[in-house]
Amino acid sequence: MARPLLVWFRNDLRLHDHEPLSYALSEERPIIPLYCVDPRHFDTVWWDLPKTGPFRARFLLESLNDLRSSLEAKGSRLVVREGHPEDVIPQLVEQHDVAEVTCYEQLGTEERDVEDAVIDALEPTDADMAFFWGQTLYHIDDLPFPDPEALPDVFTPTRKKLEKQSSIREQYPTPDAVPPLPDGLDAGRIPSLSDLGFDHDGVPDERSVLPFKGGETRALDRVDEYIWRGDHLKRYKKTRNGLLGADYSSKFSAWLAHGCVSPRYIFDEVKRYERERTSNKSTYWMIFELIWRDFFAFIGWKYGDRLFHQSGPMNVQVDWTEHEPSFEAWASGTTGIPFVDANMRELNQTGFMSNRGRQNVASMLAKSLNIDWRRGAAYFEAKLVDYDVTSNWGNWAYNSGVGNDPRNRYFNIVKQAKRYDSDGNYVRHWLPELADVPDHYVHEPHTMSHEEQKEYNCVIGADYPEPIVNLEKTYERLRNG
Ligand SMILES: Cc1cc2nc3c(=O)[nH]c(=O)nc-3n(C[C@H](O)[C@H](O)[C@H](O)COP(=O)(O)OP(=O)(O)OC[C@H]3O[C@@H](n4cnc5c(N)ncnc54)[C@H](O)[C@@H]3O)c2cc1C
Repeated sequence: MARPLLVWFRNDLRLHDHEPLSYALSEERPIIPLYCVDPRHFDTVWWDLPKTGPFRARFLLESLNDLRSSLEAKGSRLVVREGHPEDVIPQLVEQHDVAEVTCYEQLGTEERDVEDAVIDALEPTDADMAFFWGQTLYHIDDLPFPDPEALPDVFTPTRKKLEKQSSIREQYPTPDAVPPLPDGLDAGRIPSLSDLGFDHDGVPDERSVLPFKGGETRALDRVDEYIWRGDHLKRYKKTRNGLLGADYSSKFSAWLAHGCVSPRYIFDEVKRYERERTSNKSTYWMIFELIWRDFFAFIGWKYGDRLFHQSGPMNVQVDWTEHEPSFEAWASGTTGIPFVDANMRELNQTGFMSNRGRQNVASMLAKSLNIDWRRGAAYFEAKLVDYDVTSNWGNWAYNSGVGNDPRNRYFNIVKQAKRYDSDGNYVRHWLPELADVPDHYVHEPHTMSHEEQKEYNCVIGADYPEPIVNLEKTYERLRNG
């Protein structure tokens, strides 16, 4: 009997376009598809924040259940173990005489440390290890830059060079069948949220833009729903700055972050839509945004650990302010600035926030409040259903003046609110205390007279907080210096 090959699934919870699995199948050996539920993912990390909150944990468990069902339909089963990969993998290698372990590489310090620990732990065995690259649209080996140092620090030249000098590889086919598990190998149980120590069910508030169900099945269905059934792609560039509803943007991010869908699958669907329906700025813009995702991944590759340093990848020294009450107000959505509060409450209650919202709340924390940007990034890491290490930390650094934005901008939050939520429907959706406040006050309710506050059932300081900061003064400080 041929010695088995172990496919270690990580943030690639799918069967389509999966190079390690395709490679394993081409070797014609028994295959052990493994996922390790690593307790470190459920630890408390920076500033006592949990690394993974209940929305993402639930999404992950749903994705594992879906992958297990898909593998069962192909003749195999997902093996699940709770433990550190560097302990679990060598044990399985010993027990089942595994010849080779294969997986996708990941970016991020902790992720790399785990890879190194697995390599070390496999050293005493005779099992080989084969790594593949699959996180980005453009393959890392196809970058038109000889080494990480040559990668520009700015998006536009990176994108232009990629588009001109590189191309996107073909997808790997979804297998028709996967060989059964070796005899005697128990697939193990997929833990529940309570096994992982959660007392929250991880179900987003019903006001959420989407229910966000994890797994490849729903990922591919969402791509079909957004691009084909809903025909939303042709308007994407016009709607992508929206705030309410399922379809102002694709909402692909959570499935991309868990690898339930590959970026190349989305790319191919966009290209097919361009051929079969219409090709316009909006259809291109979806690819443009996927290149932003690539850009931050490659910046993570270039800067490694520096992505998590206070001075960020661009090594900018800022005299950050420590002020716990301001951070708490920001995090809990009680700053007295409705656009910030509505977005933070959406995040806290659903695990999702629009891109427009993310930019504004990041600017509020790092620019207006001058609080260490990494606290915001760590808070997002805990809360987001679509947390992706380089997209999150790269965007946070970018929006905080320590990353790859050559212009180092801040957001005028009330102006943004009036532009993107002109009727106030978004802030009222998340802040019911503003339900009766008329449109012209809804983004600055503290400017109402005391009589108006009573008339509109929103007494500042009682029903809704006083602003914790004078935003205009913060912009003055930022402009001067
Ligand atoms: C402070 C901050 C933190 C963020 N953290 C994350 C994160 O942890 N995970 C994450 O996936 N995205 C993150 N983003 C990027 C972006 O906000 C989300 O990808 C997007 O809002 C997800 O919604 P969507 O899938 O509907 O996006 P769409 O507008 O439909 O875009 C399609 C896809 O393009 C990619 N994309 C779009 N904008 C960006 C961007 N600015 N950077 C990187 N990729 C992008 C995403 O994969 C997204 O799913 C962050 C942005 C900011 C400003």
